[in-house]
Formats: sequence, structure tokens, C-alpha cells
Amino acid sequence: MYRKKYKSNLLVRELKNEDAQKLSEAKVIIAGTGVLGSIVLANLISLKTGKICIVDTNEKQSKNTSKLTARKYSGKNICVCSSNIENIENLIPITDYDIIIDCLESYDSKFVLNKIAVKNKKPLIHGAVTETYGQVTSIIPYETACLGCLFQNSDTKDIKTNEKVCPAINAIAALQSQAAADIILGQDNDLRDVLLTYNAEDLQLKKIKLSRNPECDICSNIIC
Ligand SMILES: [Zn+2]
Repeated sequence: MYRKKYKSNLLVRELKNEDAQKLSEAKVIIAGTGVLGSIVLANLISLKTGKICIVDTNEKQSKNTSKLTARKYSGKNICVCSSNIENIENLIPITDYDIIIDCLESYDSKFVLNKIAVKNKKPLIHGAVTETYGQVTSIIPYETACLGCLFQNSDTKDIKTNEKVCPAINAIAALQSQAAADIILGQDNDLRDVLLTYNAEDLQLKKIKLSRNPECDICSNIIC
């Protein structure tokens, strides 16, 4: 069964039958259905990820994405949830999912999502883009720095993510998709405790070493 369904994936030399099975069983939440979320969604569909739940506060946007998804991919294993991020725990069984991917535009929502991921001990692939700049990191709750270890929410008030004209967006979506696949396949990558930044203007990739903040409001006070 896997050989037929994953025929194209198996052309990738490193992908074995057991990897195809892991992908077929993986359950992923994509938060944010703007341009970044749509590209990540297409990437995960091409990897034949088992189940994908897409979430957005923008009902019109998530409906459009779901329509596109349904038309293009039958939407069999894809569910759509239009909700404020604060409310997703009431609507989605977070613990049933393996990974959350942050493609949200608002930093307020990103911080809420980070809190939910840490609370539920789910890996979170953070991504953000604005014009030519993008960044990505893998957050493994209680193992690596979370978003709250890096910034106070108030530090991000003036940051406006802008996906409208954004040359960095495909690169960040690709990195987020690969980071998610690595976690599903149990492969290590360099995005743990590292903020990888990309500037499309000068084509520079930079790695910024991160570490957990023992005084983080989000991940330091909860006993595992
Ligand atoms: Zn933290």
C-alpha cells in the first residue's frame, strides 16, 4: 500500500518504507492560512501527511483555503477550523496531533499558540516573514527555548509581519515544512535552539544560537 501511495516520495533516496508509514500516520496542525500557511499546506500534502488541521481566525480566508484544498486535493484528510487561537483547545483535540506549525501573521496569536504548544508538550515550528526577512525555529517544549524565552509579547508590538509582498516567504515555508518532516521522521536538524534567519535581499542565511530562559513566563513555571 505504502509503495503505491508513496511512489513519488520513495524516489527520494533517503526515504524508506518506514518513513512513508510515519508520514502517513502523522497529524499536523497548521495555524494561519495566509500565503505562508498555504505553501506549507501544499508541501505537507505533497509529502502525503496523514492528517492536517488548518486553523485561522480569519473565517473568510480559512474557507477560501479549504475550498482551494478541497478542489485540488479532495480534502480527505484535511479539516478546517475557523477560530480565535485562544479557543482552539476547545475545538481541536490538540493532544491527538503530533506537531503544530506557526504560520500566523499576528505576534499576539503566535504567543498564544506558543503557550498552547508548551502546555500540551507539542513541538511547534515557528515561522515569520516580513518583506525580505524571514525566520524559523523548532520549539520542543521543555527541551529548547520557546517563543516566551526569546521575547516578551510587548517586545513584538511594533513588528508587523507582511505576507503581501514577501520574497522570503517560499524559503521560510520550505524550511518549516522540512523541519516538520524531520520531527515526524525522528531526524535531527539544526533548528533546535537555533533561530535561522533568511534575508532575501542579500540571500544570507544566519543562525542565532538560542537558550532557554529560566525565568520564561511560559516554560519555566510548569513542572513536567
Ligand atoms: Zn520559554
